[in-house]
Amino acid sequence: MPVSGKLFIGGEQVATAATFQAVNAAAGESLQPSFSAAGNAEVERACALAWSAFEPFRALELDARARFLETIADRIQALGDELLERGHAETGLPIARLTGERGRTMGQLRLFADELRKGGWLGLRVDPAMPDRKPLPRSDLRQRKVPLGPVVVFGASNFPLAFSVAGGDTAAALAAGCPVIVKGHSAHPGTSDLVAQAITAAVKACDLPPGVFSLLNGNSRSLGASLVAHPRVKAVGFTGSRAGGLALMKIASERPEPIPVYAEMSSINPVFLLPAAMAERAEKLGQDFVGSLTLGVGQFCTNPGLAIALESPELERFIAAAGAALGQVAPGVMLTAGIHAAYEKGVQHLLDHDKVTLLARGAESQGKYCGRGALFSVRARDLLQHADVMNEVFGASSVIVRCANEAEMFEVAEHLEGQLTATLQLAARDHALAARLVPIIERKAGRLIANGWPTGVEVSHAMVHGGPFPATSDGRSTSVGTLAIERFLRPVCYQDFPDALLPHALRREALESLPHRFDGEYRAARAKS
Ligand code: NAP
Repeated sequence: MPVSGKLFIGGEQVATAATFQAVNAAAGESLQPSFSAAGNAEVERACALAWSAFEPFRALELDARARFLETIADRIQALGDELLERGHAETGLPIARLTGERGRTMGQLRLFADELRKGGWLGLRVDPAMPDRKPLPRSDLRQRKVPLGPVVVFGASNFPLAFSVAGGDTAAALAAGCPVIVKGHSAHPGTSDLVAQAITAAVKACDLPPGVFSLLNGNSRSLGASLVAHPRVKAVGFTGSRAGGLALMKIASERPEPIPVYAEMSSINPVFLLPAAMAERAEKLGQDFVGSLTLGVGQFCTNPGLAIALESPELERFIAAAGAALGQVAPGVMLTAGIHAAYEKGVQHLLDHDKVTLLARGAESQGKYCGRGALFSVRARDLLQHADVMNEVFGASSVIVRCANEAEMFEVAEHLEGQLTATLQLAARDHALAARLVPIIERKAGRLIANGWPTGVEVSHAMVHGGPFPATSDGRSTSVGTLAIERFLRPVCYQDFPDALLPHALRREALESLPHRFDGEYRAARAKS
């Protein structure tokens, strides 16, 4: 299936006069074809179609919506190797990584389909009427969750499949019953184009209103801004820079009708290296830390950008092992020239910093846009005075924090901004210290890890990929896993509604086949006979 170079607006492929080029990540050269760039007319059309699709789409039976998600997954699979090759050319990510990412993309669509059929996400609650209650009777109260409306999804540069056109945000929004307009990332328009063809085919095969999905490509900031400002749009999913996320949050909050922006922005994912664990396995920890740091050229939002340890001979052993391991890692191509330039700038800032010491660099590379790993150290006292040392450097750069004592370790923990993850490397003898750290890092991060590494996010029911600001714009939610659907739903209560007017799921005969709370008690779905 060739890359079309067109926009996908409610089932139609649309060409515009304004165009832009995709770029080969490794060589920096333009790739064919040219891509149409959306302007105001295309934004208007996509939003109008999404709005007109909203009512019929949300009214679909759960099984029909689930089949739509499964059909998208099947169509993505059917794109074959061409999708992987285009993704590789545009992002520099290896084919093996993209193959895994495609599996995750299809897997999360199917997981949401399964979740839809189970019905727990509907949040059904019934408080039956109490006509004889004194002094006042109670009405019959029934609650369910309804979708917010059309959602704009900003594809992420670092997950061209799993967090882009048919990625986690799109899967969660469609599962909730929200039409989706994707603002494609300008770094991988051809990859987006192919996936949009798969979704458009699925919309047709499932006989859905075409406005359920649109992809608007473009490389101007005004495109994203006008989508977020559009009155038909009711929520936004975003993964990218802090500056980008903040800009979109501002636009959303200044609308006549403000809307939620679920932005995943920056995180340095601190790793606490506790003393007994260091005494047991400092060298192994140093090697494994570098494995996590350099995975995917460090271009993961869960990359460990800060390691915190007590000054000790064990820390020196950790540093020696990590430095040796880093020196063996050949730098890989970064996602875009811009991301490479931002990485170089961030590393240079640390190199120039008078409180920061360079410990090791990755192997040299001749590649144009390759990101060479960097490992630094700073004294905890200095870190506490220089917040800039904790700024995210997106790529394989990390800072080791040397604490003079446990009190400094706690001070550093308290000083952290909101994070996606916080990790404890511990042994049994560290439990008392860890137990005192946990309440602090619980306040700071969405996922706490014991004796693992933050990179690698399971797509499942209990996963939280979120965290307090600035890790995300709203720490009460997750962008990975089935709980992500909650971001695009809101509860509605029906008071004393006649059965015939109630939504189907809340009617007496349907309720028994779905999990719900009855007068506060949890009730499982009764198996259909
Ligand atoms: P980005 O610059 O924030 O761009 C993400 C998306 O938002 C793109 O579609 C971009 O449009 C759009 N956008 C950005 N600022 C905007 C604004 N002011 N108004 C309207 N639209 C806007 O992120 P990126 O290109 O993926 O990478 C740049 C940096 O983001 C990295 O160096 C890294 O620091 C960070 N990043 C973080 C994560 C994470 O998971 N936390 C992931 C990826 C990147 P265009 O396509 O036109 O640029």
